[in-house]
Amino acid sequence: MSCFPSQEVAQGILEKAARLATKGRYGEQALDPHPVPPASQDSFDVPLPRNGRDPGEVIEALDRAARPGLSGMTQPGFMSWVIGGSHPVGVAADWMAAAWGQNACVYDASPAAAEAEAAGAKYLLDVLDLPRDSSVGFATGATMAAFTSLAAARLCVLERAGHDFERKGLCGCPEVAIYIADDAHVTNYSVLRYLGFGSNQMRRIPTRTDGTYDCDALERAMEKDTAPARIVLAQAGHIMSGAFDDFGRLAALCKRHDAWLHVDGAFGLWVRASRRLRHIAEGAELADSWSVDGHKWLQIPYDCGFAVIRHEEYHRRAMTMQAGYLPDGERRRNNSDYVPELSRRARGFAVWAVMHCLGRKGIEDMVESHCHAAHLLAQAIKRLDGVEVVNQQCLNQLAVAFECQSGDGAEAVAEALNASGRYFVRTASWRGRKLLRFSITNGDTGPDDIAPLVDQIIAAWQAVSLAAA
Ligand SMILES: *Cc1c(COP(=O)(O)O)cnc(C)c1O
Repeated sequence: MSCFPSQEVAQGILEKAARLATKGRYGEQALDPHPVPPASQDSFDVPLPRNGRDPGEVIEALDRAARPGLSGMTQPGFMSWVIGGSHPVGVAADWMAAAWGQNACVYDASPAAAEAEAAGAKYLLDVLDLPRDSSVGFATGATMAAFTSLAAARLCVLERAGHDFERKGLCGCPEVAIYIADDAHVTNYSVLRYLGFGSNQMRRIPTRTDGTYDCDALERAMEKDTAPARIVLAQAGHIMSGAFDDFGRLAALCKRHDAWLHVDGAFGLWVRASRRLRHIAEGAELADSWSVDGHKWLQIPYDCGFAVIRHEEYHRRAMTMQAGYLPDGERRRNNSDYVPELSRRARGFAVWAVMHCLGRKGIEDMVESHCHAAHLLAQAIKRLDGVEVVNQQCLNQLAVAFECQSGDGAEAVAEALNASGRYFVRTASWRGRKLLRFSITNGDTGPDDIAPLVDQIIAAWQAVSLAAA
């Protein structure tokens, strides 16, 4: 007896799912960008039934239970956090990957999943203009991509310092100095912890006002350090200021001190897809490894990130699994040789499909259009009394201070925008100030969306200023 529905029923369920999911995305019933935690009758917290329910009914029940608590991350007004809009072609490709049931682990399990990742990796290196013989792992996101990259870095710098990490692990290893900007994205600190590095190994370097390295301070710290093994973490696109480190200078320092240079470019590295804007991330190509997201600026559905490593040998040695029953991937790509997981979703299909759908020019146009939209927004609101755009680098992110007598103008403006049913924005504290953040990362958002947003911001800000006066 099978526990699966028949082919006919299965077909009906998939069609129903497509109809319901599309409804949440487009038209009258599209989701509000701002999720309001629901008190609904059809919540998830119901007893597990003794007997299984009808499959179609279950999918409808899921839609009813989930919908009130879903946020419209695919909507153009979703500007909270740095979150991509899940390109519909990527969603379709992901559904196919799931329906085909592919485990992307090793080549022999799914040659197609391996070939799709191999092709996607090539496109990625080309679009980001990174060394073409780098190896690429398809991870869950930039956090695990950084984990993968830094695992390779750890192996490499310890080996150069004469320590056999593969045999001894971290036991009795020479000290590894990790240079990290005080203001680096929090995930990097977590990743270092997972890799066995504590605060004693982390050299937190002061930053400039935009959150990038004070390179003189870094240079002084590296000069006086005696640790024989070194890793430097740099940032392409600071989460608050959008700023980029001076990669040319960092690369020269790393060369002098035999350090591994890693770039966290979760969203910012995509600026290299634009011929006009790539100068902002100039020199990033000199690093040893990069972590970059697919599910943010590239619009791949969640989850998808890339670990890009210049030295394939260290990448593979850090990640590869060897077991008698696993085929040897000497010539063919075993996806699991490049990320921590063995069994996982075949991410390459969505990457391949979205990149084909957009094309090189589509990616370039999207990046430029988002940056232009952010620029328009900055220009329009920085003229307002009491409003200050804090960014120095206008990428696709804005951090804005709204200062009025009652103090917290940013929070009040955020609340007004979120209540409109069209937007979702949030505030964050940075350097002692409460700032309203706008992230223009959705594939559906462009310069045309800015004028109505500016009108809403002006109306909200006037209401707040009047109430405070
Ligand atoms: C989002 C982000 C990360 C973490 O990426 P995930 O995909 O959420 O794992 C790391 N660094 C920066 C700069 C980010 O914006």
